[in-house]
Amino acid sequence: MRQKLRSTFVLVNHTEILEALVGLKDVQVLAYERRGPEVTLVIEQTLGDVRCPSCRARAHVKERPVVTYIDLPVYGSAMTLSWKKHRMRCVNPECATGSWVLDDHRIAAKSCLLTTRAAKWATRQVGEGRTVSEVAKELNCDWHTVNDALLTYGSALLDADRRRLNQTSAIGLDETSFVKPHDQAHSNYATTVCDVENHQIIEILPSRNYVDVAKWVPDQPSSWKERIEYGALDMSPAYAAVYSVALPQAAQVVDPFHVVSLANRALDAVRRRVQREQLGHRGHRGHRDDPLYRVRRVLLMGEEKLSENAAARLRSLLELGDPEGEVAISYAIKERLRDFYRTRDPDKARTMLRELLEHCASRAMPPEIQKLGGTIETWFDKICNFHVARVSNGPTEALNNLIKRVKRV
Ligand SMILES: [Zn+2]
Repeated sequence: MRQKLRSTFVLVNHTEILEALVGLKDVQVLAYERRGPEVTLVIEQTLGDVRCPSCRARAHVKERPVVTYIDLPVYGSAMTLSWKKHRMRCVNPECATGSWVLDDHRIAAKSCLLTTRAAKWATRQVGEGRTVSEVAKELNCDWHTVNDALLTYGSALLDADRRRLNQTSAIGLDETSFVKPHDQAHSNYATTVCDVENHQIIEILPSRNYVDVAKWVPDQPSSWKERIEYGALDMSPAYAAVYSVALPQAAQVVDPFHVVSLANRALDAVRRRVQREQLGHRGHRGHRDDPLYRVRRVLLMGEEKLSENAAARLRSLLELGDPEGEVAISYAIKERLRDFYRTRDPDKARTMLRELLEHCASRAMPPEIQKLGGTIETWFDKICNFHVARVSNGPTEALNNLIKRVKRV
């Protein structure tokens, strides 16, 4: 009686358990055991026609070794999975093959003490910021077991990801700065290589120099390189050179984000200059009363985002602070550039940008806008390529963060 209380043997509906706990068609649940707080699920594989790997003769079951794995906790209780394996032997007397054990990596990988789903769960937990010890405690196992699983599955995750990224036809090079903690003055620059079709990070290179970035490309498989049709970039001559030299067949596409932010910077420079000039006329009265200072943020917003009141306020403050209309014209140029990106038809868009550039080049334009026009002229074709390629270094998925953390571990 006492024995029975301590060890309750429960057999629940097989299909139900399979769906809920294993979810694999060719895996059978033999038993579901509960000893106190611990739950054990006993499973086996359903055998098909098993053949010898070397001579293809039929194979017989020689032994049924049971291997126990740590599985995901069920309703807060630790769970183990006992896998009643099949050790097979070839029937052909001439065959030199010894015996072998049937495996299934979907259940558990070789040399991993966690089941595959527990290992994936643990990898995700650590990826999301939990410590290895916390996860080990929850799984009721030791630190090394979890850490080993992380090494196995973390690298499997990265490999799977790399294989998927190998399918892309568009990549992007993007500069990222990492400010060292306690050393704001010296930031490090890195280049992020992205799959801009699937918005995933492919690689982070610890440099933004031509030589370092260009060196990375030839190391990639030629099948990967041949597939690349588009290369997205900011307006950096170094990245343009990387594409021209290392991936000459790829059409270069300047990121819309960088072009619009360049226009915003030109607009802001005009605003600051006119503001200084006006202050010179009136003497310094502080920022609060300065009409241009007060519209500095509104200017950088999209026109369509302004309420009627905000638009009216912008107009009246510009009348006050911008007597020559230099800020107003720069604002119109920036908005026209945004229209260019909203235009779907590549030919129309190209004509539109050409007209805008002629406008920018006019002597009547503020010098900052003439300079902006010059930069856009330099990159004209690569900017227009956006309308054909429709790829850009957009936001990458949250999965990247997970991968980065796993990489660090
Ligand atoms: Zn054989």
